Amino acid sequence: MRIVALAGGIGGARFLRGLKDVVAPGDEITVIGNTGDDIHLFGLKVCPDLDTVMYTLGGGIHEEQGWGRAEESFAVKEELTAYGVGPSWFGLGDKDFATHIVRTQMLGAGYPLSAVTEALCDRWQPGVRLLPMSDDRVETHVKITDGEGTRAIHFQEYWVKLHAAVDAEAIIAVGADTAKPAPGVLEAIAAADVILFPPSNPVVSIGTILAVPGIREAVARAAAPVVGLSPIIGGAPVRGMADKVLAAVGVAASASAVALHYGADLIDGWLVDEADAEAVSEVEAAGIPCRAVPLLMSDPAATAAMARAALELAEQVRG
Ligand code: GDP
Ligand code: CA
Repeated sequence: MRIVALAGGIGGARFLRGLKDVVAPGDEITVIGNTGDDIHLFGLKVCPDLDTVMYTLGGGIHEEQGWGRAEESFAVKEELTAYGVGPSWFGLGDKDFATHIVRTQMLGAGYPLSAVTEALCDRWQPGVRLLPMSDDRVETHVKITDGEGTRAIHFQEYWVKLHAAVDAEAIIAVGADTAKPAPGVLEAIAAADVILFPPSNPVVSIGTILAVPGIREAVARAAAPVVGLSPIIGGAPVRGMADKVLAAVGVAASASAVALHYGADLIDGWLVDEADAEAVSEVEAAGIPCRAVPLLMSDPAATAAMARAALELAEQVRG
């Protein structure tokens, strides 16, 4: 079976680990990763979501934190701060720096991001084929108004520095309109037996991937059933501030609103948490088969059960 999953960072990576636990030997998982969170820091190209997937599936992740390397130190960051060189709000550890140095060096030598990602994965052996959504530069920016006026700032500045404390007025995927899907992306979608939307951020993770021209159309057209899992439980994101970016696109922070935001043109099945069982009829009324199952990725077994439920729903809705 060929499974394709669109993925952001932590929510996507943790779900993918559960998915790997339940697939049969020989099944192939292709992950299309969000690169809209990418940022240039200290002259280096940093791809937070691709790295979170790679480290999580490759056994290098800082488990409690959910991002960055395990057993990390911060000597380089402290030295940069001593020189007065920032930003200090983005946590790059010493081991993590090596990844960004290798990536930047390869990009400088002319390799596309997809080839660089493949080379990095040679070391980490994540057990999935990890493709960036695009080799072209796409950067998510957030329009805000604060004491300094109205302006657009990089998504990482909004998320990590400001902790999404200010309302997001608009989300702009800069460069997305002219970006091309990375090699293999459209082919994987077309050849898939199942397409999954993990409980990743619907706006700045999955939404950004779908904003690359051709990807949304390919998913909508695909022969494979498309099943998504709600990142919202009981009216709140399980982790992070997804409600702030949902509000920016006019979508309520609820399991049913996210399903309707994707819409019946795109998804063929939707899983909500048992706490949101009342959302099932609303989602089904919109033409999207829906089930309520436990959706908290509290441990590997719970996460694997979520992946199994998603694959089962895919089988049920297969035409
Ligand atoms: P990011 O790029 O690191 O923000 O990660 P993603 O976009 O892949 O996932 C973030 C989303 O994962 C957030 O909106 C969370 O609500 C969701 N999330 C995190 N943990 C869980 C969980 O245990 N269950 C569910 N259903 N969603 C989760
Ligand atoms: Ca992200």
